[in-house]
Amino acid sequence: MPSYPLTALVLRKTKLGETDIILTLLAEDGTQVRAVAKGLRKPGSRFGARLEPYAVVDLLLHTGKSLEVVSEARSVAPHAALREDLDRSAAAAVVADMLDKIAVEAQTEPRLFGLAGATLDALERAPVEALPSLVVAFLVKALAMHGYRPELEACAACASEVAGSAAFSLSHGGVLCESCGGEDPSALRFSEAARKWLSHLLASTMADIAAEEVPAAAVYDCFTLVRSFVVYHVPSRLKALDFYAGMLQPR
Ligand SMILES: [Zn+2]
Repeated sequence: MPSYPLTALVLRKTKLGETDIILTLLAEDGTQVRAVAKGLRKPGSRFGARLEPYAVVDLLLHTGKSLEVVSEARSVAPHAALREDLDRSAAAAVVADMLDKIAVEAQTEPRLFGLAGATLDALERAPVEALPSLVVAFLVKALAMHGYRPELEACAACASEVAGSAAFSLSHGGVLCESCGGEDPSALRFSEAARKWLSHLLASTMADIAAEEVPAAAVYDCFTLVRSFVVYHVPSRLKALDFYAGMLQPR
């Protein structure tokens, strides 16, 4: 049986029969692949702990009757810290859930894999205070790659320049000037600090964001807005994002 190599990120594990697991994977080209790891739930499985969620692995696959089958797995970036700490695992779960919902079998988007890897590397090492910023940055960058880059500088309805705080329209995909915002009762409130922080996150690398001082109130406003933007554009519910929102509630 001919086999072929695939570098992939493990998004999710689903039980299959007594001892097998179906892996939902994000492949290097940004497509989603499902593959069976036979005997993964047996004690002393030859795959060990390499095929855990958030791990990047080099796989050798072959095509089975209905799904791909994993014949070999080598660890590239295990991201073990993301499974050991509640704050980090909740943040990583949002990333995996989003990728699970937006990566499609046939639609390639190679930048998505690079973004996912950089995000998980940063979530593993960043100070805990930086994690919400990284989650927001990942969500907004992933949406931008799918054609939903929010307009944050000019009015999304009339293109006039927007200064200060502004309303954000989900249907227009961006901020509205005062006169357009006044006509849209569904527009969300968006402070100037949050608008500037979101622009900054869109323009920055994950490694840079992980190292920065975090404006906590602006991050919370950005998170709330970006969560609404995700819900508006991603048809399936992201349970991990709901859970994360509960963790972030101001205490
Ligand atoms: Zn306008």
